[in-house]
Amino acid sequence: MRVHLWFTMATLLLTFGVGLADERLKVVTSNETLAAVAREVGGDRVEVFSLSRGVEDPHYVSPTPSLMLQVTDADLFFENGMELECWVERVLDGGRNAKIRRGAKAHVYACAGISPLEVPSTLSRSEGCIHAHGNPHIWLDPINAKTMAANLVEGLKRVDPEGSEVYDQRYAQFRARIDVAFYGRDLIEVLGSEYCDRLQRSGGLIEFLEAHEYKGRSLIESLGGWRKKMLPLRDMNLVAYHQTWAYLRDAFDLDVVAHVEPKPGISPTPSQISLVRRMIERHEVPAIISAPYYDVGKVRTLAEETKTNAVVLPSGVGADAASVDYFSLFERITDLLLENARS
Ligand SMILES: [Zn+2]
Repeated sequence: MRVHLWFTMATLLLTFGVGLADERLKVVTSNETLAAVAREVGGDRVEVFSLSRGVEDPHYVSPTPSLMLQVTDADLFFENGMELECWVERVLDGGRNAKIRRGAKAHVYACAGISPLEVPSTLSRSEGCIHAHGNPHIWLDPINAKTMAANLVEGLKRVDPEGSEVYDQRYAQFRARIDVAFYGRDLIEVLGSEYCDRLQRSGGLIEFLEAHEYKGRSLIESLGGWRKKMLPLRDMNLVAYHQTWAYLRDAFDLDVVAHVEPKPGISPTPSQISLVRRMIERHEVPAIISAPYYDVGKVRTLAEETKTNAVVLPSGVGADAASVDYFSLFERITDLLLENARS
């Protein structure tokens, strides 16, 4: 009898478990940062696959048949957009899955509604398609991550309306966690998330906090999170390999005085290297920063020659072992910048 009961329960559990697994939406993303956002808002309702790894350059991924196969049975496709991923169109063409094609109901651009930085005054593709419409590395500003997640939630609700409540709840939790991680709990309680974002977007958050008091205490004392952690580095001059860090720069009031690439996607030339050397000599530059998939050897040589630090920064989730989700990514970036703040 006992054996029979156990068998029945096990069968029920198995059936139930398999049923759940079968019902999960297959969400395919172009990179691991988007996959991390998808896991945050999708929870148990989604199974997430990334087409590229964080240690790969998100601009250049080979559109192999195995990637095409991955999107063939996808229920939703989530890509950054702003032409970060020039390779995705070939993957989607090869996957022959009409419901996730660009413009279809189950396709989501993370960038929708985000104002791009560094939009060129003239559109030119003579040197490749990357950054032709502005800087696409939008996820390196925590405010943008909230918009990216909101865009995904809209897409998830279109393809899985039954999960709407779950997606809304999980989005609200993600949003709240970003707010606390970026500004600290005290400041959010005093000013609210939207007002903090408005001040931050205007570039005047810190000045406002320094100029105002709440209950007899300067508001700057309420600041916490990554924004407070990075205060000692305000106006720090950096040299970067690629124009990866524009949104991070603005999020933390940093300054990038030169890039090792003369233009996004163009290999360094001797004249550009000379220019970078001069900029490092002219400005106090504690670090040359680079994502791991660029020519780190060149960055280290340049740093040695100019007596500064070479810092390999994770540019997205999965770009190093410690950056396993959106929050650990920013912990890692801020830790590494602080460690290397002095040359
Ligand atoms: Zn780029």
